[in-house]
Amino acid sequence: MSINDFFTVLVLAPHTDDGEFGCGGSMSKWVNEGKEVYYVAFSSAEKSVPEEMPKDILREEVQEATKVLGIKKNNLILFDYPVREFPAYRQQILDDMIRLGNVLKPELVLLPSTTDTHQDHQTISQEGFRAFKKISMIGYEMPYNNLNFSTNLFVALEERYLKQKVGALKCYKSQAGRIYATDDFVRSLAKVRGTQIGTEYAEAFEVIRWVIR
Ligand SMILES: [Zn+2]
Repeated sequence: MSINDFFTVLVLAPHTDDGEFGCGGSMSKWVNEGKEVYYVAFSSAEKSVPEEMPKDILREEVQEATKVLGIKKNNLILFDYPVREFPAYRQQILDDMIRLGNVLKPELVLLPSTTDTHQDHQTISQEGFRAFKKISMIGYEMPYNNLNFSTNLFVALEERYLKQKVGALKCYKSQAGRIYATDDFVRSLAKVRGTQIGTEYAEAFEVIRWVIR
């Protein structure tokens, strides 16, 4: 089996937009290659929405953003856990993940890295490991959150995939103004990661578990 020979990919995002940040370029690439990509967000972070905006705006924005990446509408799954309170719902989150695993049967799972310090991200990373430890699993990079980061897997990206990542993140108008969400930041990080492997752009991942059957 080639190491790239996975078909069904499951991306676990604590909040809408985390997946786009961490692996938007890779999702775009894999969709383009014909792989089946599922995107699950565990919260639409209503409490993080500016007061003047509708509370469900992030639900709309994640639909637009995943569409930009080419993810099918039915492959977007949204849960409604309260933002910053995931640790109190660990068991329910684990149960949801196990159910998803049984239905979707992913061959590769992407989730926040093991060194992500946000409490909701830690919950998804840890429960994700428990739910999916029998299959290959990689942690995506969130420089703003990570205590440190092991860059031991790279996905090379062409300009068109990076463009879609930037385009997807632009859909989050309610979250504009975040210093780590600018085009410049996203492009610069992709450039750094690409330079490390001699390609124009890339996304880096922490290999949490790699299973070859
Ligand atoms: Zn988040």
